Amino acid sequence: MGGKKIGILAIHGDVAEHAAVLRKLKIEPIEIRAAEDFEKIEGLIIPGGESTTIYDLAKTYGLISPLRKFITTPRKNLPTTCSESCRTANHQLPTIFGTCAGLILLVKFGLLNVEIERNAYGRQLDSFEVNLNVPILGSRKFPGVFIRAPKILRVGKGVETLAEFEGTPIFIRQRNIFAASFHPELVNDIRIHKFIFGLKSPR
Ligand code: GLN
Repeated sequence: MGGKKIGILAIHGDVAEHAAVLRKLKIEPIEIRAAEDFEKIEGLIIPGGESTTIYDLAKTYGLISPLRKFITTPRKNLPTTCSESCRTANHQLPTIFGTCAGLILLVKFGLLNVEIERNAYGRQLDSFEVNLNVPILGSRKFPGVFIRAPKILRVGKGVETLAEFEGTPIFIRQRNIFAASFHPELVNDIRIHKFIFGLKSPR
């Protein structure tokens, strides 16, 4: 297994799916359920699921302030988990990736300067898959799975749009935080996780 220690907030949602992608990248994921778990990791995934449930459970487990602290505190000697192509000036901050409900939580914590609307991709059309153009990945399209996804209505200062769908940002980055309104953990394509956590493909 690779030396990088990437945590997954593991109280609700598609934890196992993110873990499977990390394993394909030869990273053994670390499940985060308690405040002291943050000491073990260099990067964190906040999965998709139901954001209200994740928030309420995180609150019950006393995880809200440790989580905010982990995301916003630079750490000396923190090995950067980010590849050359996505490294920021401020690479002492841990690399964070939120998908769908994870994106909603990052906004709720005041950590992403964006405005969103939950479940905005239509009620009757609860779920859909579409081939996305994600320029940082090159010309081969990425299969985007949207499940009662939040819509990013506005991106503010410091937020870079990494991909759009029908003119709306769906994959963004603000300094050390990446967030997607779709679910790259649910498809058989590891390029987004690989880009974010910067590891070479198994072969
Ligand atoms: N609709 C969910 C919410 O509002 C997010 C859905 C998802 O993560 N797939 O939290």
